[in-house]
Amino acid sequence: MVNQDRIVQEFLELVQIDSAPGQERQLADALKAKLEALGLEVVEDSAGEAIDGNAGNVIARLPGKVKNAPTIAFAAHMDRVSPGFGIKPQVKDGIIYSDGTTILAADDVAGIVQMLEAVRVLAEQEIEHGDIELLFTISEEAGLQGAKNLDRSLLRAQAAYFLDGGGDVGTIIPAAPAQKKITVKVNGVPAHAGIEPEKGVSAIVVAADAITRMNLGRIDEETTCNIGTIRGGVATNIIPEEVVLLCEVRSRNEQKLQAQVDHMVNEFENAATRFGVSVDIDIEESYPAMNLSEDDQAVQLVVEAVKAMGLTPNLVPTGGGSDANILVGKGLPSVILGIGMEKVHSTEESISIEQLVAGAELVVAIAQAAAKV
Ligand SMILES: [Zn+2]
Repeated sequence: MVNQDRIVQEFLELVQIDSAPGQERQLADALKAKLEALGLEVVEDSAGEAIDGNAGNVIARLPGKVKNAPTIAFAAHMDRVSPGFGIKPQVKDGIIYSDGTTILAADDVAGIVQMLEAVRVLAEQEIEHGDIELLFTISEEAGLQGAKNLDRSLLRAQAAYFLDGGGDVGTIIPAAPAQKKITVKVNGVPAHAGIEPEKGVSAIVVAADAITRMNLGRIDEETTCNIGTIRGGVATNIIPEEVVLLCEVRSRNEQKLQAQVDHMVNEFENAATRFGVSVDIDIEESYPAMNLSEDDQAVQLVVEAVKAMGLTPNLVPTGGGSDANILVGKGLPSVILGIGMEKVHSTEESISIEQLVAGAELVVAIAQAAAKV
């Protein structure tokens, strides 16, 4: 069904087009040309302008003949992490690698070509399907900025599948944590460290006092927490006046997320009170949780599709956040699919041709499952 040579060639072609967050223009143009050649309706939104990038999110529509089927969307991101320029893909024993100096960008070109190949297969095999939308986002790797600025009215889908997950094809990720970022500024009192240290209050000591009383790391099965950076102080002869800490909390459970945020805020405030100083705390939601259950139609369709391929569905939650979280927050039930990429975000990144092909077959199978609803 899937033309293995064609999908591999397209993968090799697209990873060699440079792309980065905010610099997706070349890849977006290449994709738009391909989508239009396939007869799809293509639009680009203005998300790029909002974030000073040179391309927007690309949305393509493939109308179907099965009119009562739910509209489904497939999605992948066009940007990639660095070092991602000048990729020279190599094929060895059925596995595609970079030359070791860059990433491979299977994350997320694999997802992109799996969608394109599936569209070709649906047409060639005259497979009946409902309306299908394809979403290619920008700046996923830079804070999910493309999804956050997506013109939601351009999507009519009732379920979306993000081809952007680790694990072999058959891996279904219906749940991911919400994340909050906490920025804490501890306001100490500066003083000369050698002449009159008793007149100062060290912001570093206050921060340390708070941190040592905190539960950090893995809080429970669905909640994690980290203080990622701490910056402060000017010189050894000055009692430090200011320390700024950047922290994150993640949980698939909103109440547990809030409880952990409250715990950290309390410890910082209590430490400040003990030392007679103040803290400024800023809390920001990075993204909401995605939490579909096996009973949701979006999950059922992919479970059916995986089984139809003769594979065993493997439902697993993730600890990461992605575009799917943002779309869930915008009211679109979303699932992340494992597409067989390995060691992403590293120069050892790879994907097997077998998995590349299987991912395209899965897209076709999901379209078929949706057509039967
Ligand atoms: Zn990705």
